[in-house]
Amino acid sequence: MAAFEDLILAGLDDEQREVATTLRGPLCVLAGAGTGKTRAITHRIAYGVHTGVYVPQQVLAVTFTARAAGEMRTRLRELGAGGVQARTFHAAALRQLQYFWPQAIGGQLPGIVDHKAQLLAEAARRLRINTDRATLRDLAAEVEWAKVSMHTAEGYVQAARDRTPPAGLDHTTVSRLFQSYEDVKTDRHLIDFEDVLLLTVAILDEDQRVAAEIRSQYRTFVVDEYQDVSPLQQRLLDLWLGGRDELCVVGDASQTIYSFTGATPAHLLGFTRRYPGAKVVRLVRDYRSTPQVVHLANRLLAARRPEPGVPGQGVEWPPPLELVAQRDSGPDPEFAECADDVAEAAHVASRIRALVDGGLAPASIAVLYRTNGQSEAYEQALASAGIGYQLRGGERFFQRREVREAILQLRAASRTPTDEPVPQLCGDILASLGYTPDAPAAGGAVRERWESLTALVALAGDLAASRAARGEGFALADFVAELDERAATQHAPTVQGVTLASLHAAKGLEWDAVFLVGLSEGLMPISFAEDQAGYDEERRLLYVGITRARIHLSLSWSLSRTPGGRAHRRPSRFLDGLRPAPAGPTGRSDAGARRRRPAGPPLCRSCRTLLATAAERKLGRCANCPPDYDEAVFEELRAWRLKVSQDAAVPAFVVFTDATL
Ligand code: ATP
Ligand code: MG
Repeated sequence: MAAFEDLILAGLDDEQREVATTLRGPLCVLAGAGTGKTRAITHRIAYGVHTGVYVPQQVLAVTFTARAAGEMRTRLRELGAGGVQARTFHAAALRQLQYFWPQAIGGQLPGIVDHKAQLLAEAARRLRINTDRATLRDLAAEVEWAKVSMHTAEGYVQAARDRTPPAGLDHTTVSRLFQSYEDVKTDRHLIDFEDVLLLTVAILDEDQRVAAEIRSQYRTFVVDEYQDVSPLQQRLLDLWLGGRDELCVVGDASQTIYSFTGATPAHLLGFTRRYPGAKVVRLVRDYRSTPQVVHLANRLLAARRPEPGVPGQGVEWPPPLELVAQRDSGPDPEFAECADDVAEAAHVASRIRALVDGGLAPASIAVLYRTNGQSEAYEQALASAGIGYQLRGGERFFQRREVREAILQLRAASRTPTDEPVPQLCGDILASLGYTPDAPAAGGAVRERWESLTALVALAGDLAASRAARGEGFALADFVAELDERAATQHAPTVQGVTLASLHAAKGLEWDAVFLVGLSEGLMPISFAEDQAGYDEERRLLYVGITRARIHLSLSWSLSRTPGGRAHRRPSRFLDGLRPAPAGPTGRSDAGARRRRPAGPPLCRSCRTLLATAAERKLGRCANCPPDYDEAVFEELRAWRLKVSQDAAVPAFVVFTDATL
């Protein structure tokens, strides 16, 4: 009978086995999505434990999310290597800080800051600087960036000279506010999220006894998703290692999606410069996805323009790693253009219903969006279709703290007669909770909160418009009643449902069916991606999304936000060259392909709206499109044609796939 360690290696290919049996560092695994990086390092740890090379308690595996850490611990237990620590940087640092604080600093570990913006507001008050909520949000993000990049308030001005400071502030004022914020925290005996890492770093740096104790506890380090490590996390890792090189890092530069928070793939890409003796293993076989999904992912990256200068520190972006699919063939990815967000959510819910009816478990399906504020339409559509769901990386829309606070405020305000139109009123009321029409420059929790409030104001606008179209009145009390009803109809928490998650939260995960929604300009790429580096990061985010799918992949977008609204959105630029060419004589001409064309109306070659008449279909373009297609009139034509098609009650969406065109 094979020894258990042989069984651990049995489920790996040659390169993965190379990873698993290289038990001494430094080791770097460079590989694309779905190639089994996480699997290889998990098996490596288990193999090291079973061969007696590793003591489980002396291995620290660092993953990017708490969920990934939990999954790795489960897998390690299954492989007989329970006892190995698999944690996020933050969780690992917090444990060490809690343990060593009394001896290194004395007293109790301070509490962790809940709302950074509140403390920043106090910091501003102390300096008698007037700031509004939007500025405070951007300031919170700027302070976060400075801290994970390991800049002090004093060093900020110099370090941030190439960055645009939050609107209305100059670098010197940001630096003063940053220092004042640090003082407020000290006075209140609080530390923030970044301090957990900074303080652990400081203790390791300054207290040689503690450093020696931690280093004797952990002797082997493994870091997954290393492309998104921040300078602060890297510093912590270096201090844990203390000059040793028992380190295995795993990453994929094409999946760098957190550089907006200060993370950088330079550490991954510069690994062999730092450790000249490092072994590098590349994996190219994609075990996760069908050839159809892999092909699409490869095409998305191949269409990328060379990225200038980033990631810096003398390191260049490598050419994208082409994935080679190992799975059997599956269905073609679906592309769906929808009239508006509601139609898109309904379309996605109906496709999910069909998959579930066909035997797919809801838990193996995910809907992924760019911003958490987009979840509401999908929560609603899935609830209406009787499909359970769970939100990952964000609470259910109506359970979010800011949404509950907002409803309380709206309810209180609805008791007094209301003259302003509801959407405007709603915006005014929610301003006290941080709502502004402009998106904050900040990411993370700050942006999520803004997105939730923005979604509420947008909903007020949509409902007011549709009531007005029906000639009905719409008071604030009606809006609150509608919110109550929606909150009540959303599903009770379930762990077996469809996953709704942001693309960022989907990192490292996989599902049989993935619906990438909202793929229009402004959402993907997001409106605040303004330069080439920003667009490139958005493209990588879409790549992460595509590569989450094992079998079914759907990409959809809508032309307008609200039903019947002006069509003002364009499909994402990243879809160019990915989705099938619009229907028409320029498409495939072989008879077989024509026979496979679906019965639904074809699309106009120029403005891509539905072709209504036989004459139009013969021409391949609608009656309103000039023979020589002109880019400048594109949007206007499409808006007009969409309106006509809505009036004519044709379907609100068209699904087209490679096979059918
Ligand atoms: P990501 O870049 O998205 O984090 P990854 O490279 O870490 O992906 P894994 O999550 O480890 O990839 O593996 C992807 C899928 O392929 C998993 O379902 C895994 O079990 C499966 N897999 C990996 N290697 C093999 C193999 N040698 N044989 C069969 N299945 C494999
Ligand atoms: Mg992985």
